[in-house]
Amino acid sequence: MTPWFTGFVRHTVAPGDTLWRIAWHYGTTLSALDAANPDTDPFDLRPGQRLTVPLGFPVTPADIPWCSALAEYCVRGLAARYPWLIEERIGESALGRPVYALTAGDGPRRCVFTAAHHANEWITAPLVMKYAETLAAALAAGEQVYGVPAEEINFRTRISFVPMVNPDGVDLVTGALGEPYRSRAGDIARGWPSIPFPEGWKANLQGVDLNLQYPAGWEAARAIKTAQGFDRPAPRDYVGPAPLSAPESSALAKFTEALDPDLVLAYHTQGEAIYWQFMGSAPPGSRELGLRLAAASGYALTEAPYDSGFAGYKDWFLQDFGRPGFTVEAGSGENPLPLSDFDSLWEANLGLMTLAALGVE
Ligand SMILES: [Zn+2]
Repeated sequence: MTPWFTGFVRHTVAPGDTLWRIAWHYGTTLSALDAANPDTDPFDLRPGQRLTVPLGFPVTPADIPWCSALAEYCVRGLAARYPWLIEERIGESALGRPVYALTAGDGPRRCVFTAAHHANEWITAPLVMKYAETLAAALAAGEQVYGVPAEEINFRTRISFVPMVNPDGVDLVTGALGEPYRSRAGDIARGWPSIPFPEGWKANLQGVDLNLQYPAGWEAARAIKTAQGFDRPAPRDYVGPAPLSAPESSALAKFTEALDPDLVLAYHTQGEAIYWQFMGSAPPGSRELGLRLAAASGYALTEAPYDSGFAGYKDWFLQDFGRPGFTVEAGSGENPLPLSDFDSLWEANLGLMTLAALGVE
């Protein structure tokens, strides 16, 4: 089954093989073969040589529920299809699942697009991965993304996608998590009977809300959430015993520090809103870029509610790096948003991600 998920196979060249014949055999195109095997001379195929053969469909599925294994297959599959993409394991979850980053582009501007901090907002994972795939495919084909030549995006910026910050939590919500872990999460959830289980779960498998973990007003977040009753491991809203105590948040913070990016996006659902400030202010250029992102998506550039205005990834980035960062609350409805919403999420965010990648000149 793996090739159906990763979207490629390895082919050993046989006597008499040509690229045409291989492409025909696997139902793919010469240009896809060419992109995946940049060092191969089509007129000098040698028997025994190994080729990567992209299959004739996109790698990023948006019609099935996601799990951590699928995120891994997509990262590996895209890195195989487009060898200029860089695949990294930036850390591990509480249950030892890898947290991946996939980096595209050669430009001086650096961006980090993150998704699925919150388990039941997993639809943001295919959203950013589809953007990575669209950009890579357009670069290979010499096409445009949102009216901008992919070559120009690639030349100007370097985007690191972290599609699934919370792999354990996503697996719980989508049913991919086995025992005894599911029962342990159920034990935590029993303390909050009004939160549907597992659909209402946002946290990691330690019951820590990964987007309340960053050292930017963490004590304020703790005071607010404790007053609301979230004073211990919970399906959401527990800030954890200390800032960056959760391995997933800690991995993303370290990765971000090493990269020192010009911009971060943190994808969440839902609300059709873009949050751009921390404690009422934002770094230079934030408002101008934020207004462009709002115009492209139709989402409102607005203030986060006071109760959720502390200890988030974007808050920490604004405070410590002094550069624009945005939380995007994509879509509207009740989390988890259904897969049938995916196309409208994609339509709203293709332009947003492109403009965020390019920034304000
Ligand atoms: Zn969220």
